[in-house]
Amino acid sequence: MTKLTLEQMYTAISHDEFDDRHYGAIQIPIYQNSLFAFDTYQQFEHAFEQELGSHIYSRGNNPTVEFLEGKLALLEGADAARCFASGMAAISAAIFSSVKAGDHIVCVSNAYGPARHVMGDYLKRFGVETTFVEGSRHESVQAAVRPNTKLIYLESPSTQMFELIDLEACAKLAKGIGARTIIDNTWATPIFQNPLEFGIDLIVHSITKYISGHSDALGGVVMGSNELMKPLSRDEYMLFGGIMTAHTASLVLRGLRTLPVRMERCQASGLKVASWLEESSPFVERVNHPGLPSHPQYELGKKQLRGYSSLFSFESKQPIELLKAWASKLKLFKIAVSWGGYESLATVGRNTAVNGEVRTIVRVYIGLESPDDLIRDMQETWQEVAASASQDRV
Ligand SMILES: *Cc1c(COP(=O)(O)O)cnc(C)c1O
Repeated sequence: MTKLTLEQMYTAISHDEFDDRHYGAIQIPIYQNSLFAFDTYQQFEHAFEQELGSHIYSRGNNPTVEFLEGKLALLEGADAARCFASGMAAISAAIFSSVKAGDHIVCVSNAYGPARHVMGDYLKRFGVETTFVEGSRHESVQAAVRPNTKLIYLESPSTQMFELIDLEACAKLAKGIGARTIIDNTWATPIFQNPLEFGIDLIVHSITKYISGHSDALGGVVMGSNELMKPLSRDEYMLFGGIMTAHTASLVLRGLRTLPVRMERCQASGLKVASWLEESSPFVERVNHPGLPSHPQYELGKKQLRGYSSLFSFESKQPIELLKAWASKLKLFKIAVSWGGYESLATVGRNTAVNGEVRTIVRVYIGLESPDDLIRDMQETWQEVAASASQDRV
């Protein structure tokens, strides 16, 4: 399939073609049924002969879910997509479809925590070994590869420190040794990065974040070529059964309709707040945002990304308790996990860098509020918290 421009994505998301438009209904109906009935035994048997393409049971194919899958595949330039009950269901399915006992995985050390847990711990019991590497240094990916490496698992940008991976170099390395590549593309969404064009084999997304976009649905998706998606549909999708329901698919479609609009807004607001933090705020040491020219991999980002989403972090030398007090007092930011909805979020944590140095990291998600209001909130709240802290010291 071909790569769409951003403008083509706007039209592809808003323009639908489907055959069964009952009563001229503008939206695909929610096919709220577990099973599909047949008039004749001949039709029934025929459906089973082509099980992957037939409507027999909703743990296999459901028209509402398939409609969403078609749209996501189009945006990512993939042959096929399968939607799951959560991002982790999609990630686990993609990993399990790529390895068997005796295989080795190379995984970037800053990948999503539960995904690392699947590979680094859970898969050990099935005789699969994983080596974690610093993905932003391609030499460390190269050095970790073994004769039995069958999977290189990537996430770029990562979602704590926002490091990038050279996707083209990793895809080439994997192809040379007969291994597969999977990338978690949740941060960029299909709007801002299409890793298939760099030779990556499978793409996973947590739909829970930007794609659904309203903090009211959980979902995940795996996308790739027909060749890789067919066995995944037959095995990990249907056998593990962690599928997306028609109801969720319709909620996600509702969010998807405005995905490019939200992403453009988030990009502009995120860059505005990140630039303010970098240039003008008194409590920030450095800002980790791939769209800032100060990012060490800014040039690589420009090559791989069409735009930037609005989740980033900053490092601070201020006492962690003071930063937590600041986050607690912010009026427009909530303290919560996840991201990609309408509401801004902030969390404070410690990150241990590869060299063992412990850094205090504040992860910020910029939602759809006015970025000027968000900046004012950050600034005024900091003044308040810093003033009361210096009073305590007196
Ligand atoms: C949230 C998240 C996931 C997991 O998705 P769920 O829908 O919560 O299972 C995977 N990768 C990234 C980068 C995420 O932020």
